[in-house]
Amino acid sequence: MQDFPATDNHMHINPIRGHGPLEIGNEFKKAGGTAIMVVMLPSWSYDVKVSAPSDYETCYGYVFDCVEIIRTLDIHAYGIIGVHPAELTQMINRGMELKRAKELMYAGLDIAVKWVEEKKATAIGEVGRPHYPVSREVWDASNEILLYALGLAKDCGCAVQLHTESMGEKEIIELSSMIRKANMDTGKIIKHFSPPLIRICEREKIFPSVIASKRNVETALGEGDRFLLETDYLDDLKRPGAVMGPKSVPKIVSQLRGQEDLKERLWKVNKEHPEKIYGVQVF
Ligand SMILES: [Zn+2]
Repeated sequence: MQDFPATDNHMHINPIRGHGPLEIGNEFKKAGGTAIMVVMLPSWSYDVKVSAPSDYETCYGYVFDCVEIIRTLDIHAYGIIGVHPAELTQMINRGMELKRAKELMYAGLDIAVKWVEEKKATAIGEVGRPHYPVSREVWDASNEILLYALGLAKDCGCAVQLHTESMGEKEIIELSSMIRKANMDTGKIIKHFSPPLIRICEREKIFPSVIASKRNVETALGEGDRFLLETDYLDDLKRPGAVMGPKSVPKIVSQLRGQEDLKERLWKVNKEHPEKIYGVQVF
């Protein structure tokens, strides 16, 4: 039935508080979707309160289970696990000391990379820094944790999905120079929720994952084909429509691929790039 690749590079699926993998997977497939990168939510979205590294493992397990279930629908699915930057704020707000919170985040990342090595997950994410204002202390700690995650990913050879503050050209340059200075550039560093600044990202060696709105996709395709598509679907019953729905990537792909000049670009976006970056099959 599916005759063209349609890969959602960043989707959340919540088996605890959402529709869950079967319902979302079926919807995605019916719209023509072929592959989903299932990205872990912050721990509290699964009603997990992190006080030991093993609590992260509980969350990784939810992602793993969702991936397995989606695969039974004949959709390519891959898990992306890690410690969300907002975890730090949340632990501090719960009264934990920054030092202890950092230790837990490092330990969570160590476990995540182990799971990737054991093929129980495919990449690390979302890691990075908060999209809301924080103290200098928390900002610096977030950058340290980010570099730690990049180092682990580099050693294991896997991709990383970054969550950051909202970015224009200036912020992209700053982030990329930090990555280069730390000698962490692997060609597999993906900016999730990226603006469609395709040429700038290419120059700065960040791989953009663009929200699949029609306007964004057309802008991105106008600049080239070096990008991925995502919905950042939340699967939260209490926040329907907070971002895009799960059918958005296959829908926009089928709308635009009729145009001969776009077809080849969309093939690269939905098949060649994700396969190369993650080392997996998506179609
Ligand atoms: Zn997300």
